[in-house]
Amino acid sequence: MQDVLNTINGRQVPPAADRWIENIEPATGLKLCRVPDSDAVDVQRAYESAVDAFPGWSGLDGAARGRHLHRLADAVEAELEQLARLESMDNGKPIGLSRSVDIPRAVENLRFFADAAATDRTEVFQTGDRARNLVHRDPIGVVGLISPWNLPLYLFTWKVAPALAAGNTVVAKPSELTPVTAARLGELATKSGLPPGVLNIVHGGGANAGEAIVRHEGIPAISFTGGTATGARISSQAGPLFKKLSLELGGKNPNILFDDADLESALATSLRSSFANQGQICLCGSRILVHDSIHDRVVQAIADGARGLRIGDPLDEHTQQGSLVSADHRDKVHACVERARADGGQVLCGGRFATGLPARCEGGFFYEPTVITGLGMEAEANREEIFGPVVTITSFETEEQAVAMANATNYGLSATIWTSSDDRANRIADQIDAGTVWINCWLLRDLRVPFGGVKHSGVGREGGEEAMHFFTEAKTVCTAQGTTT
Ligand code: NAD
Repeated sequence: MQDVLNTINGRQVPPAADRWIENIEPATGLKLCRVPDSDAVDVQRAYESAVDAFPGWSGLDGAARGRHLHRLADAVEAELEQLARLESMDNGKPIGLSRSVDIPRAVENLRFFADAAATDRTEVFQTGDRARNLVHRDPIGVVGLISPWNLPLYLFTWKVAPALAAGNTVVAKPSELTPVTAARLGELATKSGLPPGVLNIVHGGGANAGEAIVRHEGIPAISFTGGTATGARISSQAGPLFKKLSLELGGKNPNILFDDADLESALATSLRSSFANQGQICLCGSRILVHDSIHDRVVQAIADGARGLRIGDPLDEHTQQGSLVSADHRDKVHACVERARADGGQVLCGGRFATGLPARCEGGFFYEPTVITGLGMEAEANREEIFGPVVTITSFETEEQAVAMANATNYGLSATIWTSSDDRANRIADQIDAGTVWINCWLLRDLRVPFGGVKHSGVGREGGEEAMHFFTEAKTVCTAQGTTT
């Protein structure tokens, strides 16, 4: 595969200092390509190109910006199959998932915000007969976007699309672990006629390229998705510069099963919410909390289901579990499982590197889906995000206990409740600290609704109007009427 290049001013360019990072294919452990190890010089070039492009782009009417985004969506859609393959090679996720979720959602993100761009958001507030207030939503300028590796193009476009729709120009950095589809997006942007400099993509590590974006004095807004520790660091750097910040961080989400739930559907979805994308989704229900009357049944079903998942080459159509994203990450996941064992947890299945893979994947970073029981809420495995194919199962007796257990972490991204009682579902939803609560479903997403976390899961909301508000500044123009002064 060819080396990934930066997209600056509509051109594909190598990093100024000619420093590179090796991009490893997780399913094989072999080099896939090189990625620019960009630094502050590259970020500055991207910034200057974004500054030059800003007057033209922000001066277009929203509908015209929307047409550009639709053309980019068309270009991504036309390459759906190739992009899905690239995503799976770069990340290790099953091709079926890239094809049905990651790339279609990237197209949907672009189209959704293309349509949003055309909406006039000016609000009017009449102050009796004394004044008329117009609230305009103006683009901010050059915005910085930083995204993670778990849903590479999906989350990258989730930021790029609203930022551009609102009239900003962009300096964006995808994860250095999964840069390939974002790099292709940069090429497609140029090919589809997006004006040069509107979307600049700078590849590289967090410490160099990432921090250069965060610290850049000319970039007044940063939208970040990634780990909580990184979010804290970014916050400490951006705060004193008074930057607008959106932080979408980690999760340790409870998945609560009551004894009156439709167990068939609860179990099928719980298997998915535990292990989809090898458990590397911030919204995974990594803590199953189950009423004690159905505990044994649930444990047995989830462990059997986990054992039955087909681990294999991500490029094989039949694979259900691909590889983890890197050797380091697999080792981190394994260390978490070992500590859970040391804390008294029973590892019912998994808990080890997967073997028996096809020859191509012998050097890959595969880990068996793992189910752990017997831990209290104070255990690290129930408090800290593991971000791998690992789920804990813990029983409760009362609703009050279930709520207390659900809230017993510093995270608050999402929660799922399985019950046939609407009253109970809504009562519990009210008490849970989370940005999203799913009742009898999981990962059912409407792009219009606010999305984000409370506590250490983040600051701010993305999605729909929330994103359009984040990427604009409100300006109130108050005009006196009649003789009022
Ligand atoms: P990460 O924090 O290591 O990296 C995320 C991005 O930040 C990468 O592009 C990285 O290069 C960059 N980065 C790292 N250090 C930086 C710094 N000091 N300054 C600026 N940029 C820096 O996270 P990750 O390992 O890529 O992703 C996994 C995490 O992301 C998990 O915690 C997961 O829960 C979280 N996540 C959250 C959401 C959400 O919507 N809340 C969605 C997906 C993933």
